[in-house]
Amino acid sequence: MELYYGISGSGFVCHTINPRLFKEQIAFIIKHAGDKVLFADLTFLPILEALAPQLRKLKAVVMLTDEAHMPKSSALPKLKSYETLLAREKDQFNWPELNENTACSLCYTSGTTGEPKGVLYSHRSSVLHAMAVCTPDAFNCSASSTVCPIVPMFHVNAWGIPYLAPMIGAKLVMPGAKLDGASLHQLMTGEGVTFTAGVPTVWLALLDYLDAEKKTIPTLMRVGIGGSAAPPIMLQRFADRGAEVIHAWGMTETSPVALTAALTGKHAKLSNAEKLAKRAKQGRPLYGTEYLVVNGAGKPVKHDGQEFGDLHIRGAWVASSYFKSKEKAAFKREGWFNTGDVVNVDEDGFFQIVDRAKDVIKSGGEWISSIELEGIMQAHPAIKEAAVVSRPHAKWAERPVLVAVLKSGAVLTYEEMVMHFTGKIAKWSIPDELIVVDQLPHTATGKLLKTVIRKLVLAR
Ligand code: ADP
Repeated sequence: MELYYGISGSGFVCHTINPRLFKEQIAFIIKHAGDKVLFADLTFLPILEALAPQLRKLKAVVMLTDEAHMPKSSALPKLKSYETLLAREKDQFNWPELNENTACSLCYTSGTTGEPKGVLYSHRSSVLHAMAVCTPDAFNCSASSTVCPIVPMFHVNAWGIPYLAPMIGAKLVMPGAKLDGASLHQLMTGEGVTFTAGVPTVWLALLDYLDAEKKTIPTLMRVGIGGSAAPPIMLQRFADRGAEVIHAWGMTETSPVALTAALTGKHAKLSNAEKLAKRAKQGRPLYGTEYLVVNGAGKPVKHDGQEFGDLHIRGAWVASSYFKSKEKAAFKREGWFNTGDVVNVDEDGFFQIVDRAKDVIKSGGEWISSIELEGIMQAHPAIKEAAVVSRPHAKWAERPVLVAVLKSGAVLTYEEMVMHFTGKIAKWSIPDELIVVDQLPHTATGKLLKTVIRKLVLAR
């Protein structure tokens, strides 16, 4: 938190690094970003040591600790102590008056689609984004909230939460390294957390823990879920515990939050099931962002909740280029950023992410949404986690395969899987195969790693 404000406030750029990236990717982004000083928690010393040859080019590597806890490292003999550096300074500092368009932070996409790409944020875009995500139809936070981002501070600036909490005077609770169900439950009940946010994988673990231990988090009112699609059953499971899920969509390139699924006045009369279906979509635009969804012919799609197209976006906190990059493909349409997501839009203006363009399963000219199939399967009592990917097929081009992790002691047959899908989706969308695995691979930000899952399917 101190670095977020100290670095940006004094006119430098705070470049957060995801420590779960491959060593080569970390080395790549440190060099590409032109980083000068690296700050790290003690737990990351082994990563730093592995990167030692690359880090020697930096002005300094600072450990976030005091002199007494400074590690001795033969690979990095010149490590500095953060507290010692601070103690040498005066308490007073004249913060510079910066132009609002000055860069303040830098994030790299996790590189699931090639080399990591940098997105540079300005003070202006970060403040506008933070104000927008506070609003009632988004995270709905105020001075009376106790806010706990489970999304790490390196994942698109923890979705703006480190900015919005001080902005409104909310209590901010940081989870540290332990993100298992028991630790989160203890933290949230102990601190009286009212709002939290994170990717679906984290919530699967917490919900399973609450179920197994018959526990609740009485203060929890709202859970922001994004990064990948929140399965509808997850909304229900939180609702059963008195917490409302706010499903949000965004990307590194969009700061990240751009769509949130809050109902409007006209939905008050809907049944609970209809409300849930609506809120399981990724939602409506936050004011400050604009959208264009075009079909294969380049024409805007009908708002009928059926026709799908490529989602383009622009706005006050949407990137207009990548940092120091020649990559222009995503910005080909003048003034717009092509998200790479395929979406439909319904008559109420609710967007639904069908899939990432590269994950859509193309079967006999029809498109199958892996997200929809995963959402349905996630509701089956035997399933712990479900992934749907394509297998190349001679006749149909691609066919869906369900790769599943089962709950301990549970059994699932192919026939039971087919029965569970029957009536919920078109028959030709039902996966041809069920593969049960012990665990599924995830990206550095906790998303299903579809590239590796597809390889795993091919190897069977
Ligand atoms: P990367 O592109 O490296 O995975 P991002 O964190 O920027 O890193 O990921 C953005 C992508 O995540 C979006 O393009 C979209 O495909 C997916 N995503 C984010 N939120 C949701 C959501 N609520 N539902 C479905 N997909 C989502």
